Amino acid sequence: MPEVRPEIAAMPGYHSPQVDVPIRLNTNESPFSPPEAFISEFAEAVRTIVWNRYPDRSAIALREGLGRYHNVSLDNIFVANGSNEVLQTVLLAFAGPGRRVAVFEPGYQMHVQIGRIVGSEVIALERNADFGLDVQRVGEALATIDPHVVFVSSPNNPTGQCDDESLIDVILDSTGALVVVDEAYAEFSTWSAIDRAVHSDRIVVSRTFSKTWSLAALRLGYLIGSPSVINHLWTAVLPYHLDASKQVAGEIALKFTDEMNTRVARIVNERDRVQEALRSMGVKVSPSSANFILFSPQRDANLVWQRLLDVGVLVRNCSSWPLLNGWLRLTIGSKEENEAFLQGLQSALETE
Ligand SMILES: *Cc1c(COP(=O)(O)O)cnc(C)c1O
Repeated sequence: MPEVRPEIAAMPGYHSPQVDVPIRLNTNESPFSPPEAFISEFAEAVRTIVWNRYPDRSAIALREGLGRYHNVSLDNIFVANGSNEVLQTVLLAFAGPGRRVAVFEPGYQMHVQIGRIVGSEVIALERNADFGLDVQRVGEALATIDPHVVFVSSPNNPTGQCDDESLIDVILDSTGALVVVDEAYAEFSTWSAIDRAVHSDRIVVSRTFSKTWSLAALRLGYLIGSPSVINHLWTAVLPYHLDASKQVAGEIALKFTDEMNTRVARIVNERDRVQEALRSMGVKVSPSSANFILFSPQRDANLVWQRLLDVGVLVRNCSSWPLLNGWLRLTIGSKEENEAFLQGLQSALETE
């Protein structure tokens, strides 16, 4: 075997243990399955696919559907296998070897990982203790780094908080970078950068069907940006990357936006209830604008994580992540799942 690239050798890989437990609240999926009508319509549509031919290489029908949904043109839309592939394509086109990618930590681990895999230097700026940002300090630091791409997640995973929209202006003013706004949890957020992305060659917005749309198994994500930026992404991505069944599934999913919005409202209700319950138990909470809650149990987080697992509840242990010593992340589940979590946590905190 030839020697592996040093970037790859140094990498821990993406570790989200998929333990087989009854209650999995660790990867921010929706607790609800998609509507029955979606599944049956999709099953019907699969029969009509011309399987011996390559799929539509530019996914026109799907992009038209997404364009109608967001009130933008199909030239403003790029699609790929999950937003992770979207982000990888952005970095292949605009970062790559010898270029710099800036991220804020704590943030989404995959921004760092994909940046390194494409050969870029990844530079992390630290958030404050309350996970906010001091924008003036950010502007100064970014001006020195002079990055080619800057990632902003809104709401931010794993903190659940939204930065102020003015952060985008600070990045635009202090750098020449492409600003990638990762809006994986946009349906829970107070603002979106889509309108600005359509009118700027320096802002793009990525979205996914994995979270709010109840379609994590589908692996479908997309990006909204200016046509000139989007064109470069089509050059960087592999031909025929998006299979025919995925394209048609995405088109059909867009017919069920009302159902999706109902699910979002239910999750927000549960999130607010769980957040209150955590606070009343004396647990420290990072205020969430998403479908998950980052919390610090104020005692050994690894122990609490293990005790929850012992009663069949899996949450994400973020304790070893940068700046997150003592923190765990809960994905909001169904009412019953959240109850099981709260009870498990209560007894984990009471047991010596
Ligand atoms: C979950 C998540 C994604 C989703 O990635 P997919 O590849 O679309 O499943 C992207 N960004 C953030 C910040 C996430 O939390």
